Amino acid sequence: MSSSDDSSQAVLALGSNLQPRAQWLDLALDLLGEKGIQVLASTPRWNTAPIGAIPQPDYLNQLVLARGTLRGLGWLKLAQAAEVRAGRRRGVSKGPRTLDVDIILIEGESLTSPGLTVPHPGLLQRPYLLRGAAQLVPDWVHPTEGLSIAELARRDLTGSWAIGSSTPSGSS
Ligand code: AMP
Repeated sequence: MSSSDDSSQAVLALGSNLQPRAQWLDLALDLLGEKGIQVLASTPRWNTAPIGAIPQPDYLNQLVLARGTLRGLGWLKLAQAAEVRAGRRRGVSKGPRTLDVDIILIEGESLTSPGLTVPHPGLLQRPYLLRGAAQLVPDWVHPTEGLSIAELARRDLTGSWAIGSSTPSGSS
């Protein structure tokens, strides 16, 4: 837990694979500011190959460490508000999207509810998420793995690192 009982820190993953990708990520950051959420740190943006059978463009991804007067499902509501703001239409599951905001980690929390699983299961499956989270919160301990995020990222380097390959991005 961070500064007070009704606040927490969370690692959020932003992603877009419909143009203008960078502007959709900027819009998400603007919305965080509007809602009084502080962005404490952020990763560079990466191009990431889509995962799954649906042909679609590469994603532009970025992770941010945010702090706000929110707990658990409050983070999910914020993420969904950002997606709605970006005009996201829920069509094909796992299909292309203007904006995807996922809750990757909430400090000291492990949640399994119908609408929210934290840590996000993709953290252990998508190397770019683990690598990004290790830049932001290397010392946070994954509640079910019992290892720090930095240790998990190091372990991943020797294993499945090639899955979901990513490259540094320019501005779009
Ligand atoms: P997505 O297609 O990535 O937008 O995710 C679809 C659903 O995943 C949403 O309706 C959320 O309720 C659910 N979900 C479960 N856990 C999470 C999480 N950690 N972050 C974001 N969405 C989540």
